[in-house]
Amino acid sequence: MAIIDISTIDDHERFRAELASIRPDGRRRWIYARKPRGRYTRWRNIVSVVLLAFLMLAPYVKVDGHQFMLLNIIDRKFVFFGFPFWPSDFYLVTLMFLTTIVTFVIATASLGRIWCGWLCPQTVFMEMVFRKIEWLVEGSPVEQARRHAGPWNADRIMRTGGKFVIFFALSFVIANTFLSYVISSDVLLRYIADGPMAHVELFGGLVFFTGVFFMVFYRFREQACLIACPYGRYMSALVDDKTVTVSYDHVRGEDRTKWSREDVAAQRAALASGQTFARPAGSGDCLDCHQCVTVCPTGIDIRNGIQLECVGCTACIDACDEVMDKVGLDRGLIRYDSLTSIRSGKRQSFLTRRIVAYGIVWLVLMCTVVTLFAMRSSLDVVILRQAGSTWVQTPQGLANFYQVRLINKTSKKMPVSIRVREPRGMRLQSLGLPSVLRGEQIVNARFILTMQSASEDGRESHRDDHVEFHEKGAMQVIVDVETPDGVQSLKTSFVGP
Ligand code: SF4
Ligand code: SF4
Repeated sequence: MAIIDISTIDDHERFRAELASIRPDGRRRWIYARKPRGRYTRWRNIVSVVLLAFLMLAPYVKVDGHQFMLLNIIDRKFVFFGFPFWPSDFYLVTLMFLTTIVTFVIATASLGRIWCGWLCPQTVFMEMVFRKIEWLVEGSPVEQARRHAGPWNADRIMRTGGKFVIFFALSFVIANTFLSYVISSDVLLRYIADGPMAHVELFGGLVFFTGVFFMVFYRFREQACLIACPYGRYMSALVDDKTVTVSYDHVRGEDRTKWSREDVAAQRAALASGQTFARPAGSGDCLDCHQCVTVCPTGIDIRNGIQLECVGCTACIDACDEVMDKVGLDRGLIRYDSLTSIRSGKRQSFLTRRIVAYGIVWLVLMCTVVTLFAMRSSLDVVILRQAGSTWVQTPQGLANFYQVRLINKTSKKMPVSIRVREPRGMRLQSLGLPSVLRGEQIVNARFILTMQSASEDGRESHRDDHVEFHEKGAMQVIVDVETPDGVQSLKTSFVGP
């Protein structure tokens, strides 16, 4: 196999042979991203503030007594936007999960990595929180690079130490926030009041996850998007020429030509006098200034086309627009657009047949979720015959034992009554059945069903003459569970000799 010496490859072709964040010798190339400025950055700042506020506050907001968002995997209890989902609603949670996946598929196929750039917690925390702190503590990317290459003097120790402490403290806050989504904010606050020594195991887990978050934001950074995140991988299978994503207009930009300071001054002077600066024939609008590269948090050059490493953060759009403004050229050399539109010079719709097909699947799933959600009962009942038992003969008749599990899915009190609908003459004797369930209460109780052979006064039998035991000595029993919301009828079996 021939070994290619990448130092012989043209600068603009290097991306084909090496990764932006890995040196040719395999060591990490640290990315010192420049601070972007512009309209997209402003919008991303606003979106990030809203998302961070939501993430931090959602576990402390209560709707109808429920935490606004809860993902209690341990007890399999989930609350989405104030609506609780119990283990029995697993089918609904699965369907919602599927609908979310299809939503991601549609968003990616039509708008590329819109999730990564605008909404993903990794990007929001990394670019909008941790990197900003880094700029504040360690200075501009140039200062950071110079300091990192220099000796461990007092200035470097102080700044690195400061960054370390702040990053660790923030990671601890993030770990606590995620924990409040799992064990609920009420439990978390109670545990905090109890102190770490009262819940050593949980505290150990918390410190572990703090360490994980710290390492992700302190060291791993963009590698999380490039190596670890599965979404970035399947994105490449969904994006095509019609996908609208952050793109460089190569038709307008090429051939890229380096502008000297004099060229920029001449262009500005020409613009001031209402003329156009005459550029060499064949040169495009790209000044080859590399501003779009220096702001990129993953270190890539968007001019090389759509790449797996691009998280769609829009920083290069703002950087290029700033350059275009300075030299008086039209903004949008890098913009949200599709390759088809750039090639044809006309704006093409991203509503392809593929997107419409995905949309139909999404609509069907969404309608199913909404319908099932609307039909969902507020009381969950499970009735099973007592495990290991068959029948017993009592003075009143044949008897079977049952277990019942009642779950009040609401946060309000719920009166409940249980009676046998069919067959007639079957008597229900409660063994701890409640008449009222508290909000979110789960009750496990038992009852006995007796097929009366004679009335209690010893006179005539109430037994239904039409009732017969089928093969294996079993018959069907229908039990009605009544609440103010309606009646649920459940079938169970009754066995006899
Ligand atoms: S290429 Fe542009 S949009 Fe993509 S990650 Fe880099 S700066 Fe962000
Ligand atoms: S910022 Fe714009 S002009 Fe400068 S290199 Fe990038 S694409 Fe070309």
